[in-house]
Amino acid sequence: MFRHSRFFWRLFLSYFVLACAAAAGLGLFAADRLHATRFESIQRALYEESRLVYELIEEDLKAKRTGPMQQTLGRVAAAVGCRFTIVDNEGHVIADTEAEPATMDNHRLRPEIVQAAAQGEGASTRWSHTLREEVLCLAYRAQEPDGTIHFVRLAVPLAQVKKGLRVFDESLLLGVAAVILLSGAACFLLARRQATPIAELSSTARAIAAGDLSRRAFAGGSVEAAALGSAVNAMAEAIAEAKAESAKAREELLAILGSMTEGIIATDGQRRIVLVNPAAAALLDFSAAGIAGKALWEVVRDEQVLQEAEQVAASGQRRTLRCGPIRGRYVAVVISPLAHAGGAPGLLLVAHDTTEAVEYQELRKEFVANVSHELRTPLTFIKGFIETLRDGALSDPVKGPEYLATIEKHVTQLTNLVNDLLELSRLESRAGIPRRHSVKLDELVRKVVDLMQPAAQKKEQSLTVAVSPGLPASSGDPDYLERAIANLLDNAIKYTPRCGAINVSAKTNAASVVIEVTDNGIGIPAHDLPRIFERFYRVDKSRSREMGGTGLGLAIVKHIAQAHGGSVEISSEVGKGSTVRLSLPMG
Ligand code: ADP
Repeated sequence: MFRHSRFFWRLFLSYFVLACAAAAGLGLFAADRLHATRFESIQRALYEESRLVYELIEEDLKAKRTGPMQQTLGRVAAAVGCRFTIVDNEGHVIADTEAEPATMDNHRLRPEIVQAAAQGEGASTRWSHTLREEVLCLAYRAQEPDGTIHFVRLAVPLAQVKKGLRVFDESLLLGVAAVILLSGAACFLLARRQATPIAELSSTARAIAAGDLSRRAFAGGSVEAAALGSAVNAMAEAIAEAKAESAKAREELLAILGSMTEGIIATDGQRRIVLVNPAAAALLDFSAAGIAGKALWEVVRDEQVLQEAEQVAASGQRRTLRCGPIRGRYVAVVISPLAHAGGAPGLLLVAHDTTEAVEYQELRKEFVANVSHELRTPLTFIKGFIETLRDGALSDPVKGPEYLATIEKHVTQLTNLVNDLLELSRLESRAGIPRRHSVKLDELVRKVVDLMQPAAQKKEQSLTVAVSPGLPASSGDPDYLERAIANLLDNAIKYTPRCGAINVSAKTNAASVVIEVTDNGIGIPAHDLPRIFERFYRVDKSRSREMGGTGLGLAIVKHIAQAHGGSVEISSEVGKGSTVRLSLPMG
């Protein structure tokens, strides 16, 4: 069963009340008009009757035959149910069908007589004491050619006249009832035709407002309903489009935030999280899953960050703090107020990983300390020996030259150190990027071996070469590559005892050319191996210095290898020897 809305009932009742009022008004008007017309026609008939009665009694009246006249009047009165009175021009009652004329008052001033005397006909309605009811009195003026005037007055009970009118009332009432019934049905249909699309529209609009953007209104029916339906549909489409656009924009924003290395956290005025990216979770060490809407303090555990956030919220001023290590990483967090439309300002936390910068700072400090230390040691020696010489040793024929030789050794050490430092700094700067040449590595290896052969022979070491035939060329800077191979051979000779064996090989491996320097020297303890390429890292400092080492040789090799797009690695065993592998890309 179709359930009608309240709107329908209101519409229907409004129409129906209007229709009832119109029907009732029309009915009353029609009744009034009908009564008036009917009453007039009854009156006319009664006047006609009066005239006929006069004609019936005219002869008797002229002859003043009261008896027969009275009888005629009585008969007619009985037949038509009226009272007849004959009155002369002075108002004397000559005959009457109900009372004795002699006993009756003068009728000249009765309203109907006065009116009939003036206009020929007169009518009045009044209470009859004789009949004890309301009567309609009509008077007809009859004038003889000789000028004699008589009035025929007719009195009929008003109830009798009204009875004749009531027939019309009943039919009219039936008509009005039929009109009301029909208009009720019409109003029902009209209200339903208008209310149904509106009810449907309002239910569609409610569904759209609740989020069902696929709902569409029926854009038919009346012109107005169709226009409204189309407008609602256009609105739904516009909302869906705007929603899709905002979802797309949010997705893009999340994608951007997701690929950022900076951590981002945005909160509302109540410090509830509205946006967060994975980098923030990783940097500040929390789980990013399901935290939207949670309070900042529930998610970020770092007290310092929370305190700073409160300070920023209170002051409205941006602040930066450095915290960590958090899981071994140093983090800088910039906290700024974040304006929210219409609400209290939220906070924007941007966190970035400063571990590298912190480590670089540490490294720099350590490097300066190392350099100072490395410089101070030979300088102290040089200064000491110079003082000794000045104090007299200079003239000593044995000690003098001996001390000078020591000073020279330390000066060489200093020179080596400064040269190596310069080399390193060149390699680290843009200027250090090697020139690109095609380098024939087999020739280069043989050249370096030839150069180092005297040093090896001095320690009675065997220095052999094994270069694969057809070794491809590598592209790079021949001077730097020569320096790298020389450094490796220098180490092998230095850290291999007398009569040891050193071999240099060069072969291809996948897309690289690998140069291997193998010795059977003192080797390197396993725990030192990971740090062996660091600047100034030495297994045995005094031994290295004794050998004229600076602690920078392998660091330089590593930099040269990296600058050529290659790498260097070392494997070693204490007492058995070491192998250093320098890989360079072919080409
Ligand atoms: P250094 O100037 O002291 O030789 P390097 O950077 O060349 O500096 O080498 C760093 C350290 O590595 C050396 O002090 C030494 O202890 C160790 N080392 C390098 N090459 C060898 C090797 N072939 N055998 C044993 N130890 C080595």
